[in-house]
Amino acid sequence: MSEQQQFDVVVIGAGPAGYHAAIRAAQLGLKTACIDAALGKDGRPALGGTCLRVGCIPSKALLDSSRQFWNMHHIFGDHGIAFDNAKIDVNAMVGRKDKIVKQFTGGIAALFKANKVSAFYGFGQLQPGNVVTVKQHDGSTVELKGTNVILAAGSDSIELPFAKFGEHIVDNVGALDFTEVPKRLGVIGAGVIGLELGSVWNRLGAEVVILEAMPSFLAAADAEASKVSLREFKKQGLDIRLGAKVATTEVKDDGVHVVYNDDKGQQTLVFDKLLVAVGRKAATRGLLAEGTGVQLNERGQIAVDEHCHTGVDGVWAVGDCVRGPMLAHKGFEEGIAVAELIAGLPGHVNFDTIPWVIYTEPEIAWVGKTEEQLKAEGIPYKAGSFPFAAVGRAVAMSEPAGFVKVLAHAETDRIVGMHLVGANVSELVHEGVLAMEFNGSAEDLARICHAHPSLSEAVHDAAMAVDKRAIHKVN
Ligand SMILES: Cc1cc2nc3c(=O)[nH]c(=O)nc-3n(C[C@H](O)[C@H](O)[C@H](O)COP(=O)(O)OP(=O)(O)OC[C@H]3O[C@@H](n4cnc5c(N)ncnc54)[C@H](O)[C@@H]3O)c2cc1C
Repeated sequence: MSEQQQFDVVVIGAGPAGYHAAIRAAQLGLKTACIDAALGKDGRPALGGTCLRVGCIPSKALLDSSRQFWNMHHIFGDHGIAFDNAKIDVNAMVGRKDKIVKQFTGGIAALFKANKVSAFYGFGQLQPGNVVTVKQHDGSTVELKGTNVILAAGSDSIELPFAKFGEHIVDNVGALDFTEVPKRLGVIGAGVIGLELGSVWNRLGAEVVILEAMPSFLAAADAEASKVSLREFKKQGLDIRLGAKVATTEVKDDGVHVVYNDDKGQQTLVFDKLLVAVGRKAATRGLLAEGTGVQLNERGQIAVDEHCHTGVDGVWAVGDCVRGPMLAHKGFEEGIAVAELIAGLPGHVNFDTIPWVIYTEPEIAWVGKTEEQLKAEGIPYKAGSFPFAAVGRAVAMSEPAGFVKVLAHAETDRIVGMHLVGANVSELVHEGVLAMEFNGSAEDLARICHAHPSLSEAVHDAAMAVDKRAIHKVN
């Protein structure tokens, strides 16, 4: 082993949480190292974590490609555009996705270089005393000592004991790399990943059945948003079966046999591919040597306080490997906050204004509390909603599905939640985020001039509807 190298900050993991922490620490003048074990499809080190390699970005690349194909068959006709014999070349589509991934993973390496973050490629393990050993891909080991160590190891897919990953049963990694459109695709889990990747292959012609054990659809979302989006997904041909508990799977010559139980009894379906999307777990295997003092919580995540501190002097943890939503942007903010805390600045993440987005068609997005949460917590509120079907720009775009709903405190008018279903609501939700961060009221939003025609008019009218003064609908 070579001589120990000393850093102000050593980060394990270069996903969204880790690379934000490393770059911000370096910007603040701290001598920083960042370690990542991941290899890209070409077998070379690839920074950026799940998000850039096999998560957010590649899934959106395929969602956009498949959306173009879907539009050709379902929307172009409305515009008077006709064509013959449109075909999808899956390898070209996946190749485009791979190119985007490479561009962005390479971009992180370039940012590390520009910010003087020392990158180490290999597996990092925290030892007692803030020492990190790195087993590099060439077989050598280096030892780094950090005044501070930030654990940003991320998460891995959960594998079911009765559905082991292989050629036919896959997680997100496999489902982003199919070489042809499966004729029959089964998905276990109607969460974000199941819905997004199920949508990709459904739009390209696969018969997609999504089996969800819970009796309700998207329980974390506002009930009205869940109901409206479920109706739209069904119209698109996604066969979503709720209360369907998968018992066994078996790969046979004719496909994957999936046995599940619902209120009608035991049922069997056969698929060419099965995507298991039942959640993710903190990636802590091998991360912590004996005696570091870092604790895991009951969910196997690294235990931290509200400042992402583990309780061990100088050891912090951020992103998917700790409590809170498994979202890239939550990791971004935690990474920045911890780097700033280490530098003596007041780093902070406001969990109340973290936006949620599901990139289906229509998109689903929200920030703050749902009506159901407000009722359960006894918070008095007023609701104003506005449908995209009454928004000129949405109809001109052939995107009339969905609505915007603004929830405001009944006494103070302060915005406590915003729920959106529709085109581009992944962008529009930030009106709610911004308003909530600034403690804005529904009236504030209602009095802000919004461009016409634009999708954002739905936000404006929904805010006006809170006080029953929306112009474009009967209040
Ligand atoms: C299909 C899919 C789609 C998604 N879409 C979205 C989306 O649209 N929006 C969104 O906000 N989130 C999305 N997510 C979730 C998002 O990807 C994660 O929340 C985010 O990547 C978490 O960031 P992280 O830095 O905590 O961990 P990760 O991104 O998992 O990165 C952790 C990194 O640490 C490395 N590592 C782990 N242990 C070690 C070790 N001991 N030594 C060295 N390296 C190590 C890993 O190789 C990895 O590169 C999606 C996830 C999936 C699977």
